[in-house]
Amino acid sequence: MTNQTAPQGPDEPEGDAEQIPTPATVPDQGVEKAKRPSPRPDVFYTPVSNGMDYLVSVFKSLTEGATPPSARDLKYTVLHLQAATEVLLKARLAREHFSLIFVDPLQATHEAWQKGDFKSCGTLEAFDRLCNIGGLPLKGEDRKRIKELSDHRNALQHYGLKHNAHAIESRAARVLDFLITFIHKHLIPGLGPAEAAGVERNMDSLRLKLKGIETLVRQRMNDLRSELTKVADVTVKCPDCEQWAMVADGRDEGPACLFCHQVWTEAPESAAANYAWIILGLDDHSTIQDGGDPPVAECPDCEVCALVTEAVTAAGRPGATPLCFSCGTVFKNLTDCDGGCGTVLDIAPDGESIPMCSNCIDTRYARF
Ligand SMILES: [Zn+2]
Ligand SMILES: [Zn+2]
Ligand SMILES: [Zn+2]
Repeated sequence: MTNQTAPQGPDEPEGDAEQIPTPATVPDQGVEKAKRPSPRPDVFYTPVSNGMDYLVSVFKSLTEGATPPSARDLKYTVLHLQAATEVLLKARLAREHFSLIFVDPLQATHEAWQKGDFKSCGTLEAFDRLCNIGGLPLKGEDRKRIKELSDHRNALQHYGLKHNAHAIESRAARVLDFLITFIHKHLIPGLGPAEAAGVERNMDSLRLKLKGIETLVRQRMNDLRSELTKVADVTVKCPDCEQWAMVADGRDEGPACLFCHQVWTEAPESAAANYAWIILGLDDHSTIQDGGDPPVAECPDCEVCALVTEAVTAAGRPGATPLCFSCGTVFKNLTDCDGGCGTVLDIAPDGESIPMCSNCIDTRYARF
């Protein structure tokens, strides 16, 4: 007798199964795993239908409740989106070889796999193994979004939900877009004809719903267009919702996103650091290690450490524009202090004078 259900392995994110709620409904049973004939079901059986269930639940939370979605809907959006991502990536990874699902493939045994009694690798590890071992051409930006989703899910479990509805909707749409393409390109081709047809049927309705969510996001951006055009020179991509709607115009309450309403209340320094890290992928440690300047410096105008020297603004993209997230100044003539102290100066080059900060001038002349 063959065991049809055991060998799918644990599909709970990062090994803490009890915290994962099951999808609110068990949708479309067109995916009939039990009927698929396979000579080696333990290796080729994939829990694709399980991942699809989570996806259907994500769309349900995002599209069928209140507008914008309630806090509870958003919570399940994040939890189930993370679960769907993990299950679907691992379903594909198991097709390469079951041992790759183990946190340490060298410790994998067929028996543990069959019992589902092992610690499985994380979602990002699954993503990396699919690229590095499976040779799938997955994109770095999708990896970044999946990482943010995992971080977000963990923060939600431990600290409750802080992000607002529009930010979650906008970010979820991008992950959903990735997953729908992933299922189509990398999962369906390996399924048996009956299961493939069932999944395809589900996919058609999911694609339609994703279009609906994307349309909502686009409409919201369109409504903001005239307002955003006026401040394009101080508008950057928001680290929370990834829309071009974060305005750093020196307003008192701190930089704010017009799309998702995130406000960095009186904290332009952390807005700048967040932006540099999440959007530009730059942090102090690695840029200095590479011999570069830190991505956020002290502003020559307001003296707050919120000057992003390589910000990309809506008006200046794709080029970089130095923008202070505190006073909202866009600098045209930034120069490093010639004394090598790392201070950034706002001095127009005149071909004669050497740009130097007052500290360095004092030190240099004190020597003589
Ligand atoms: Zn935002
Ligand atoms: Zn400033
Ligand atoms: Zn200096």
